[in-house]
Amino acid sequence: MTTFVEHLINEGIPPEYHLKGTLDKKSLTKHLTRIAKDRPELYPDIVQNVKKVGDMMATFEGVSVGLDDITPDYAARDKLIGDAKRDIGKLTNDKAIIERLLKAQSEGLALGTRHKGSLQRQVESGSRGKPGQFLKTVFSPVVAKGPGDLPLPYLISKSYSEGLSPAEFWLTAGESRRELAQTQLATALPGDSSKVITNVLNNSIITKPDCGTTNGLDYRLDDSHIVDRYEAKTNKLITDDYIRSLQKAKHSSILVRSPMTCQDHPGVCQKCWGHNNEGQMHTIGVNVGMRSAQMLSEPLTQMVLSAKHGGQMARADEAKLVGTHGFRQLVGIPEIFKDQAVLAEHAGTVSSISKSPQGGATVMIGDTPHYVPPKREILVKKGERVVPGFALSDGIKNPRQVVELQGLGSGRDYMKNTIYQIYKESGVDIDKRHVELLVRNSLNHVKVTEGDEDGKFIKGDIVPYNSVREHLADGAKSHPLGASLIGKRLGDEYLHYAAGTPITPEIHDSLRQAGLKTVLITDKTATYDPIMKPLEQVPLLGQDWVSRMAHRRIKDTLIRGAAENWSSDIHGSSPYAAMIYGGQNFGSDIHKGHY
Ligand SMILES: [Zn+2]
Repeated sequence: MTTFVEHLINEGIPPEYHLKGTLDKKSLTKHLTRIAKDRPELYPDIVQNVKKVGDMMATFEGVSVGLDDITPDYAARDKLIGDAKRDIGKLTNDKAIIERLLKAQSEGLALGTRHKGSLQRQVESGSRGKPGQFLKTVFSPVVAKGPGDLPLPYLISKSYSEGLSPAEFWLTAGESRRELAQTQLATALPGDSSKVITNVLNNSIITKPDCGTTNGLDYRLDDSHIVDRYEAKTNKLITDDYIRSLQKAKHSSILVRSPMTCQDHPGVCQKCWGHNNEGQMHTIGVNVGMRSAQMLSEPLTQMVLSAKHGGQMARADEAKLVGTHGFRQLVGIPEIFKDQAVLAEHAGTVSSISKSPQGGATVMIGDTPHYVPPKREILVKKGERVVPGFALSDGIKNPRQVVELQGLGSGRDYMKNTIYQIYKESGVDIDKRHVELLVRNSLNHVKVTEGDEDGKFIKGDIVPYNSVREHLADGAKSHPLGASLIGKRLGDEYLHYAAGTPITPEIHDSLRQAGLKTVLITDKTATYDPIMKPLEQVPLLGQDWVSRMAHRRIKDTLIRGAAENWSSDIHGSSPYAAMIYGGQNFGSDIHKGHY
């Protein structure tokens, strides 16, 4: 049966797109996105109509919050708090108390969803307020955050609507003060990150129909981010139907073309990007980098702001990258990397694990000691075999170490997954292509460690990775996969393994698992080390002096640029030079590689 509101909303919408059932922010967004993609010509009218119905309902059916909306369900709340109080009375150490408090807090959140009323409905629909805010207002905060954002080992039994006791007020005062201060500071950090991200991405425009790569990233078929992109090798558009047909044929993953593996640096080709949200290819010349910068920057502000007004819950002390600060730590790679995991420096067997006199422990791999600080938990056992970059302890892997120990490709892969996860855990399911592009642009330069006979690369040069890749691929020979290739160097990139990577047994296995039969092998001598710079230094790796002037260290750029005869192309892919020069003929010769 159709309800009255369903009837009003669906007026003018073709039957196959009718909205049905309970609508909240999430389902409405999903539904409207589908209409925008399938029927862009109808979308503006439909959105207008949904808004009109919303405005009308708000006028006739206005929502107000009464006392009964903020009255706790005393029986359920007091039982939950009472149980927690009794358990805590028996506990003696803070860690166990905090664990019990966090358990009570999550039980409280579940209880909150059953508290019917107009305030709860606003939270549930996604229109206003967060479950955490509702819990604190109506039920009880249960536990407050102290210094370092860590939970305090004390139970808070009353809600804000009833009023806290003086002791409880003291406990929550620190958290409230910090959240207030965070709001004031909220725009500074994300603003800074946003400027850096923009300068890393602004020269990535759509440059040509197809760069010709057969490589891509291996994604699971149930990953929602692969639709509207192209499959590598076959160059088929990935649609829901195509995914279903692959699933029927018992496939579980697919090699997807990606801006991360596009060979057209600093641009991206149409095929590696895939369709835009209107289901079309971006036209050549569109600056996808700027769009990605927007998409990546905006949530960073939201992540800081969500700390405001108690939107965030207290959480246990764990080594994890969270929110804007987590993002900045990962891409900023500070010298002292908080909660850093200990990684194996080379392949070998764990020969011993012993307590260190200063606290912590020493893990020996062959003859090399690896010190694990007291706070970290050891994850390996004696006799276990490890590969370079293998985590010996819990904690966060430092991306610089991952790149050093496992190479450019694995470093990119790690950065991509970790950045995506930071956004995801803050409630932002960001389009993975934005992350892939950011990672490609930020981890794209290499330092030549050994030159080549023909003198193309000289030891010490800093060059874009793609130019080395082209050099190694040129003249590389195809070999069938097999044990004889172990130790040889890849002549092109495969999956996320960069050209020039020596093949280890592990790499060999994963290439075979991805369905590869042959690979190119190079015998050229040129070797390189990938350069992992903090994101804010990446725009300073190029020699386009006008773009560098738009970033930082302006004096450096002027002195070195003048001494080394740097230039800026007013028809290049970076918008800065053209903008300053006056934009003559800007974009008129796009198909000849002039912008
Ligand atoms: Zn491409």
